Amino acid sequence: MRAMLFDKPGQPLRLADVPEPEAGPGELVIDVAACGVCRTDLHLVDGELDIADPPRILGHQIVGVVRGSDRRVGVPWLGWTCGECEYCRSDRENLCDRARFTGRDIHGGFGEVAKADERFCFPIPAEFPDLQAAPLLCAGLIGFRALRMAGDPARLGLYGFGAAAHIICQVAVHEGRRVFAFTRRGDERSAALARELGAEWTGESATSPPEPLDAAIIFAPVGELVPAALRATAKGGTVVCAGIHMSDIPSFPYRVLWGERTLRSVANLTRADGHELLALAPRVPIHTHVRDYPLEHANQALADLRAGEIEGAAVIDVAAR
Ligand SMILES: [Zn+2]
Ligand SMILES: [Zn+2]
Repeated sequence: MRAMLFDKPGQPLRLADVPEPEAGPGELVIDVAACGVCRTDLHLVDGELDIADPPRILGHQIVGVVRGSDRRVGVPWLGWTCGECEYCRSDRENLCDRARFTGRDIHGGFGEVAKADERFCFPIPAEFPDLQAAPLLCAGLIGFRALRMAGDPARLGLYGFGAAAHIICQVAVHEGRRVFAFTRRGDERSAALARELGAEWTGESATSPPEPLDAAIIFAPVGELVPAALRATAKGGTVVCAGIHMSDIPSFPYRVLWGERTLRSVANLTRADGHELLALAPRVPIHTHVRDYPLEHANQALADLRAGEIEGAAVIDVAAR
C-alpha cells in the first residue's frame, strides 16, 4: 500500500510502498478514505513532540471502512489506554500514563490501510461524507473537550480560528453562546469564516474584545496569547489552552489572574468525549469547511497549515487516485 512516512524531524514525509497492516486480536483493518491534518502533525514533523520509533505513518483523524464490511468508522488520536492506572480507573483515560496515540505511537491514516483497536473507534454519523467527517476526530473532539472545560460561558473567546475553532464556534452558537473570534493580523479570510459561522465579533489577537469574556479557548500554539486572554476575561472566567504544544508563556502580573480567573490546559480526549460530540454533530448541524489534498501531497497540506493558508481544516483524500 502507499503511505507517507515520517523518518525524522525536519524532513518532509516520504511516499513509500509498505506492507498492509494485519489485524491482531481486537483490532480492525480499515481501508482509509480520508485523514485530517492537525497542528499536532506539524509539532511531530518539527520534533516538538517525539516519535519513539520511526519510520511512522502520521495522521490521527481517520475515516474509513472496516475491511470486509460496509461499516464506516473513525479513528482518533487516543489509540490505546492501559485501563489499569489511576487515570484510567477514574474516567480520565485521556491522561493515561501508558496511552498510545494514533499517528505517533501507532501507524496513522496517511496511508491507504490502517489498523486500530476496535474499542477506540467511533461510528461516523451518516450525515457526514468522509472528507467532512475527518476533522471532527481531533479538531472537533479536542475542541469540544476544551469547550466543556470552559464551563458555561455566555461570552466565549476563540483564539486562533483554524480547524478546531471553526467547528467549536458552530457548537457554541448552537448552545446559545456569543462567540468572539481572534485571528492573526491580516487573516481576513479566517475572520470572514468566523462571522459566517456565527461569531458576533472578530478582531486581531492582541486587541481587546468589546466586552469582557466569560471564557476563552486558545487554539493557537502561541504563549503570548495566555496573558492576553486572561486580560480579556472577566472575573471568575476560565482560559483553556487546547493545544498539545505552545511556545513559552511570558511572565505577567498576578493581577491578570486575580479575581478567581482559572487557567488550565486540555489534554487529548476520552472516548466519552467522542461519543458525545459525534451524537451532537448532526444536530447542530456542524458543517466542516475542508481543503482536500491527495495522499502524495501531504507535505503541501502541512506547509499550507503552517502558513495559515487553510480556511477550516486540511484533509488528505486518501482514496483519491
Ligand atoms: Zn490532532
Ligand atoms: Zn491508564
